[in-house]
Formats: sequence, structure tokens, C-alpha cells
Amino acid sequence: MMAEIQRSHAGLPLLAGGGRAQAETMFVIDCPAHRSRMLLSERRIRSLRNTDTGVLLDLECYCGHIERIRTGRASR
Ligand SMILES: [Zn+2]
Repeated sequence: MMAEIQRSHAGLPLLAGGGRAQAETMFVIDCPAHRSRMLLSERRIRSLRNTDTGVLLDLECYCGHIERIRTGRASR
């Protein structure tokens, strides 16, 4: 009988876990154009490359400056 009640909700869209949408990775760069530290989200990533020494990221600042940073661990 309980199963019948639960089944009536099966057509609803799943909204569980919606809070994870805000869990973005943030990067800090020293922007020469801003002359200060800028906090960029992973949405500013323009390219991403895996290398032996870690992950190379090209991050685009809000002013258009591209900063290359290295993150992650060496894969050896
Ligand atoms: Zn900048």
C-alpha cells in the first residue's frame, strides 16, 4: 500500500542535489592589468591541458588578460 503512494510521485522532476550547482572551483591570479589579485571561477577557463607537472590552465580575467597557471599534482 505504501508503494502505491510513492509511485504516484514518480512523474515529478528530480530536484534533489540542487545545492551543488554553486560549488564552483575558484582560482586566484595576479592580474597585471588590474594590478591586484583577481578571483576567477572555472567558467573563465579558456584552455586546459594535462602535463607531466600538473594541469596548465589559461584563465581569462574580466579585463581580457589571459593568465596561465599551473594546478593539480604531478602525475608521477
Ligand atoms: Zn584583469
